[in-house]
Amino acid sequence: MIVVVKPGTSDEELDRLLEFIQSQGYSTHLSRGVERTIVGIIGDEPLTLRDRLYGLPCVDEVVPILKPYKLVARAAKPAGTVFDVRGVTIGGPTITVMAGPCTVESEQMLLETARRVKAAGASILRGGAYKPSTSPYSFHGMGEDGLRILAAARDETGLPVITEVMDTRDVGLVAKYADILQVGTRNMANFSLLREIGRSRLPVMLKRGWASNIEEWLQAAEYLASGGDEHIILCERGIRTFEQATRNTFDINAIPVVKDLSHLPIVADPSHGTGRSGLVPAVALAAIAAGADGLMIEVHPEPTKALKDGAQSLTFEGFQALMAAAEKVAAAVGRQLGGHAA
Ligand code: PEP
Ligand code: MN
Repeated sequence: MIVVVKPGTSDEELDRLLEFIQSQGYSTHLSRGVERTIVGIIGDEPLTLRDRLYGLPCVDEVVPILKPYKLVARAAKPAGTVFDVRGVTIGGPTITVMAGPCTVESEQMLLETARRVKAAGASILRGGAYKPSTSPYSFHGMGEDGLRILAAARDETGLPVITEVMDTRDVGLVAKYADILQVGTRNMANFSLLREIGRSRLPVMLKRGWASNIEEWLQAAEYLASGGDEHIILCERGIRTFEQATRNTFDINAIPVVKDLSHLPIVADPSHGTGRSGLVPAVALAAIAAGADGLMIEVHPEPTKALKDGAQSLTFEGFQALMAAAEKVAAAVGRQLGGHAA
């Protein structure tokens, strides 16, 4: 942490500042410039210290040097995190595709979707059983019945399943059926939920909060990691901006930025990132070119009849076409789609 001292600060005030910092248990390094004097603080960088320093009249600015996350920082694992979920690899050279409906609507539709996305090359099945919704009056998912259907589809196809958990009290129940827990955008900063999942050490995919910056997102991932979880996936799903042409603004920059800052694998969700099926393929391919480790794509047997997110869901044929194009873009950047279940 570096403290920039206000111009015109007297030597006595400066001494008081140094004594204050030392009284908090830190060593100091004073540097007097022609224009400005700065004090380097050696040691950890708690936010409480920064707040206290701002309370001193001679302090102009306090600049943190260390990142506010450690376990998920790239430096903690420079080679990058790679792990396996029921024989499907996440991270590393392969690009893992997760596909399925926004929400599980019936056993028949989920089984049909599972078979078709698997045939097209997907390696993980997605489907919501507990659905977050902006309106309390809309469909909130099939609950445990939906979880049972997901598990049945896994048993039949061999595809591991990912599904959202919204409530701390449901972590155990969802984990009974799911292979990867999903934390949705609205819960990215639900720290009790993150702590509960972190302690469970289960594979988890953390979606970016729709109004969160990358640092806040990585701090949320740090909650999971600090509980002992080593199987964390990040998912860029778009953020809210002033743009109205699309449901969200997919932040393509986030992919190379996160790859630089963190060792965690990052998956792109162009379905929620755009909100329109016609835009999904272009953004999916851009995400692969930008270095994404996977895709999450909403696919529905009949998007016009979907209970949720039909406008952004691909048909089976649309998904198949996307996978063929994705294979080519992956090859162009030296990667391949993979990690298929047997
Ligand atoms: C979803 O994956 O269907 C979902 C609700 O996503 P998000 O939390 O990104 O809105
Ligand atoms: Mn959805």
